[in-house]
Amino acid sequence: MLRTSLPEIKTETLPGPKAKAIIDRRAAAVPSSIRCAYPVVIEKGEGAMIEDVDGNRFLDWIGGVGVLNIGFSQPEVVEAVKAQADKYFHGMFNVVTHEGYVSLAEKLSGIAPVKGDHKKAYFANSGAEADENAVKIAKAFTRRPNIIVFSGAFHGRTLLTMSMTSKKAYAVDMGPFPDGVYRAQFPYYYRNPAGMPEEAQCDYYIDSIKAVFEQCAPASTIAAMIVEPLQGEGGFIPAPLEWIKAVREICDENGILLIADEVQSGFCRTGKMFASEYWKEVGVQPDIIATAKSIAAGVPLSAIVARDEIMEAPAPGTIGGTFCGNPLACAAALKTIEIMERDHLADRSVEIGKKVTDRYLAMKEKYECIGDVRGLGGMVGIEFVTSKATKEPATALTSAIIQECVQHGLMVEGAGTYNNVIRFLAPLVMTDEQLAAGLDIFENAVAACAVRQ
Ligand code: PLP
Repeated sequence: MLRTSLPEIKTETLPGPKAKAIIDRRAAAVPSSIRCAYPVVIEKGEGAMIEDVDGNRFLDWIGGVGVLNIGFSQPEVVEAVKAQADKYFHGMFNVVTHEGYVSLAEKLSGIAPVKGDHKKAYFANSGAEADENAVKIAKAFTRRPNIIVFSGAFHGRTLLTMSMTSKKAYAVDMGPFPDGVYRAQFPYYYRNPAGMPEEAQCDYYIDSIKAVFEQCAPASTIAAMIVEPLQGEGGFIPAPLEWIKAVREICDENGILLIADEVQSGFCRTGKMFASEYWKEVGVQPDIIATAKSIAAGVPLSAIVARDEIMEAPAPGTIGGTFCGNPLACAAALKTIEIMERDHLADRSVEIGKKVTDRYLAMKEKYECIGDVRGLGGMVGIEFVTSKATKEPATALTSAIIQECVQHGLMVEGAGTYNNVIRFLAPLVMTDEQLAAGLDIFENAVAACAVRQ
């Protein structure tokens, strides 16, 4: 059974012959700007495993980039989507009310750790749309024109979210961009300026927010600050709790809303249903949560949750969209969340994350090329450098490790401002045997590539 099987490469080369034929057709039919670095054409997915069209089996530690916390083809989710499909596929929520949408809004309002007593939720189709919507409602509520985003941030590929996203490689030739987007420094403690004492680091990054107020846009013009509780594309960097406490204080002093972009970190990935539950433990709550990815096990859906007064700020008709809150997606999300709660997937995330972190830390002792290991729960990053002393990013080595892993049946993905981090985003339903096999493939790949370097 694919679900419980181990990685196995059967073809002499990757891609195998059937996969190669489809990849060649892809190259002719689809623009290359939709990048893909993997020789894998999926035939079937179950749990944490992918079988390709040639019968090769891959352990997937990318999970559709954080979409498959509950794994491929969870049978109960498949059933829920089929049952909904038998009734109707579409019911535009501006035209007809469907109960799945309402139930999901009720559920998310109950579990999202946003500030306020009575909350509401609404839906969109992608992470970028959720972030855009969060910004729209923050502007409507505060009646202010500007926002603050952070270095290393990734918020999507629409025009607004490209301007919010830090890495401009994602925005080549696409300008002009919307204005009113200002950037402060995200606390990437591993790469603090040389010689900075530990006790000064939090203030250093907080000062960069104050510099925005002084040099770019006064605090009274800022509608919101948007923070990923654990930066994903930026290199798996957790927002330090001391820093987020200080950010919340600045927001409160200046009437600024705090938006948590939980697109990648939501739905058990970090060991909690939402990563901002860690914030809540130290007295910080976001005003708005934007989330997506693993919410519906792969059916496109995203969500925005906030308290009533924020949600009721936008004028009628200013939010929504044809496919937003699609009935198939809502059915998938309701079942996905039910299973996550019932099967304690957040606890499993902590368990898996600990095993991965322990192994990566042991590897860090052995290999000069591993500079840092960090994360929260089952969202773990490992940063590669040419030397521990200089911390120079080892970009080519990182790509080589990724390719070496896939040749042995393990799919992992890179991240980071310097493309020198490998992220662990595996389905949390992976078996212990699969995890052990994956860790072995990973370490062998690091060892092999480090020697070749
Ligand atoms: N926000 C974060 C934190 C993300 O990681 C991503 C995607 O990786 C997005 C937003 C954009 O999501 P989407 O690709 O669904 O538009």
